[in-house]
Amino acid sequence: MSAAAGSLSFTADAETAAELDAADPLADLRSQFHIPVGSDGQPQTYLVGNSLGAVPVEAANYVGEELSRWAKLGVAGHFDGPLAWEPYHELLAPQMAAIVGANTDEVVVMNSLTVNLHLLMVSFYNPTPQRHKVLIEQHAFPSDHFAVESQIRQRGNDPAESMVLVSPQPGSDTLDPEDILAAIEEAGSSLAMVLLPGVQYYTGQVLPMARITAAAHRVGATVGFDLAHAAGNIPLELHDWDVDFAAWCTYKYLNSGPGGVAGAFVHQRHVANPDLPKFLGWWGTRKDTRFQMGTVYEAIPTAESWQVSNAPILAMAALRASLDVFDKAGGLVPLREKSELQIDYFDYLLEAVLGNRIQNLTPKALGQRGCQFALRVTNPAVDGRAVYEQLGHNDVACDWRYPDVIRVAPVPLYNSFTDIHRFVQILDRLLVEAPSQ
Ligand SMILES: *Cc1c(COP(=O)(O)O)cnc(C)c1O
Repeated sequence: MSAAAGSLSFTADAETAAELDAADPLADLRSQFHIPVGSDGQPQTYLVGNSLGAVPVEAANYVGEELSRWAKLGVAGHFDGPLAWEPYHELLAPQMAAIVGANTDEVVVMNSLTVNLHLLMVSFYNPTPQRHKVLIEQHAFPSDHFAVESQIRQRGNDPAESMVLVSPQPGSDTLDPEDILAAIEEAGSSLAMVLLPGVQYYTGQVLPMARITAAAHRVGATVGFDLAHAAGNIPLELHDWDVDFAAWCTYKYLNSGPGGVAGAFVHQRHVANPDLPKFLGWWGTRKDTRFQMGTVYEAIPTAESWQVSNAPILAMAALRASLDVFDKAGGLVPLREKSELQIDYFDYLLEAVLGNRIQNLTPKALGQRGCQFALRVTNPAVDGRAVYEQLGHNDVACDWRYPDVIRVAPVPLYNSFTDIHRFVQILDRLLVEAPSQ
């Protein structure tokens, strides 16, 4: 069996993987990362960039440079030279804006993801007795659910009354976009806010962000997206889609390291709106008067006014190293082109080698998926968790999400076609040898 891939035909042989790697114009980018090593000292088959991206080789230099500046300059480092720490976050905004399809003044790098969701909901969840509901997924990432639940309580409302939960149809693992749109329509004038993922963390499903935004705006609700699994994975157009706000972490597809500093987006329409409620701190007030230490707040007229505290420079330095690799790649468009070929190839191998022994929960259509696959072992006599653990013993890094999914993400920045081939070969062998539960 074979399928066409440009000029190449897929086969299940290792030669096809080698040919695809040889023809890959982005293959050299792998050398920009340290791939974690396995038990044999060789690079692992590292397919878990959906959880923690690999470290850019340059990250140590970028962080080291800030440590040196600190050693040499001390407090003067805040104001000295092109890497001055006071405006350091400004260095990241243009590159981050390109990743999410935003204008530079719509994006700020700050805090962590859940913190940013809270800060943005302070501004964009403004319930009234009539309009108080928040639409989220039934199976939202727990942190998002907790954040919304607590925001509802904080305004004196009851989550049982104010949370609208959308879930997949019985027997389906993924959301039907029409169900989301219908739920928005049905909530109508009682709907204050929609908070949904760009890419669903469990299934890898991409939601139609532009359509959801338009539907929510039609009923008068605000819309935010959690882009934890979308930023750096798929091309985004937050500005043009007219999204109100968004937040994302950077340690997944943006390779900034554990606990890396997060991103936030506020649409241009809102950035200078003085009427939006906001939690204030000194890093949101005008830069030219900030150090006069006055207590009259004058908001920076960009997304920076959502900043509360001064920035974590060492974390930002590591992130800059990764954003520079995205620039080297030419941005998300060529990366997505490679990713789509990797998705096709992975689909082909799953079908050709594993057949019906593995079910992929991720939607088939390219427009509804990023690079993450959500694989389920179909034979109920086989313990999927044990298979996942065996993958680890074979130097394959992927992850397990309860109740029964192995998440695998070939990341076009540093994963090869050979990585995908090796993964499928090992999974094939493990399924033959798999212990019953
Ligand atoms: C990874 C992830 C988080 C993690 O939140 P932190 O605040 O960075 O710990 C939250 N929500 C979603 C959807 C995620 O995928």
